[in-house]
Amino acid sequence: MKKPIIIGNWKTNPETLQEAKKNILAIEKKVKDKKQNYLLAVPDAYISTLKDIKSKAIIGAENISGLELGAYTGTTTASMLKSAGALFTILGHSEVRTQGETDEIINKKIKQSLASGLFVVICVGESIRDKEAKYLKVVEEQLLKSLAGVNRELFSKIIIAYEPIWAIGAKNPANTHECFEMAIAIRRALASFATIDYAKKVSIIYGGAVTEENSASFITDGGVDGLLVGRASLNPTSFSKIITNCYAK
Ligand code: PEP
Repeated sequence: MKKPIIIGNWKTNPETLQEAKKNILAIEKKVKDKKQNYLLAVPDAYISTLKDIKSKAIIGAENISGLELGAYTGTTTASMLKSAGALFTILGHSEVRTQGETDEIINKKIKQSLASGLFVVICVGESIRDKEAKYLKVVEEQLLKSLAGVNRELFSKIIIAYEPIWAIGAKNPANTHECFEMAIAIRRALASFATIDYAKKVSIIYGGAVTEENSASFITDGGVDGLLVGRASLNPTSFSKIITNCYAK
């Protein structure tokens, strides 16, 4: 049985490194099984300290700058994040896309991150669901543009996070049927782009209004390998329940 991939995205939280450490230790107290590991995407400033805490957390970044080494004041490269202790980075989150990030920029960041040895969690998702199902095309296009020219041998280092924008930060998530439909569409798009053998190497997860109550249903009925969790990942009780609930399935 494949382990569920549970990723917390802390965004610009918590306010202090002390709180960040406390959060991880609180999760550790509640998730006792050593095999139940989880990933945490945290602010860059916390990476090097958090990766040294004795825990089952795999620490990663929330984005990279996309720049190479050089005279760019105030930025961070993929290689710097890797050397600080990040094992992965999220890319293409809708909150970054709304600041003007295009699929082409995301494509460049994916290549830089993989070249630096980071795993990548690529976020895709539609802003609305229309009756003609054009949203399937929207996501397929994001996916194919983002992956153009990416070395297929590195597909095992890629996780696709289906995050419908209308569910992020919202009260209600997508239902498991909607999630399942998109998981199939993503898998099909990957297979047509890079053959079924390479498509199978890519993990697909769901994100958007995941809670301890709804989390396991995405694993059992939503056709995905795991979850990307925003708000609930900042609450150690909720996040640890999400982890243990998903492992129990
Ligand atoms: C997110 O921002 O990636 C996310 C899934 O947020 P939330 O879980 O809070 O909806």
